[in-house]
Amino acid sequence: MKVRVDAATCQGHGRCYALAPDVFESDDHGHCMVIDAELTPEQEAAARAGADNCPEDAITLTDD
Ligand code: SF4
Repeated sequence: MKVRVDAATCQGHGRCYALAPDVFESDDHGHCMVIDAELTPEQEAAARAGADNCPEDAITLTDD
């Protein structure tokens, strides 16, 4: 599974990296950066929690 963040949509609420600090991190302005787009199976639940809790729907998970 892969994860990506639409930087133009992210407003820097920070919920993603609060919920999944192994998957997401903050840039200098509080916006989300993906640490590694290729998720390990252990990271998938946290990545999904981050995506589900993003108020801007900026996070996309894909199965490829
Ligand atoms: S929760 Fe969404 S809007 Fe907030 S920092 Fe993460 S990706 Fe950006």
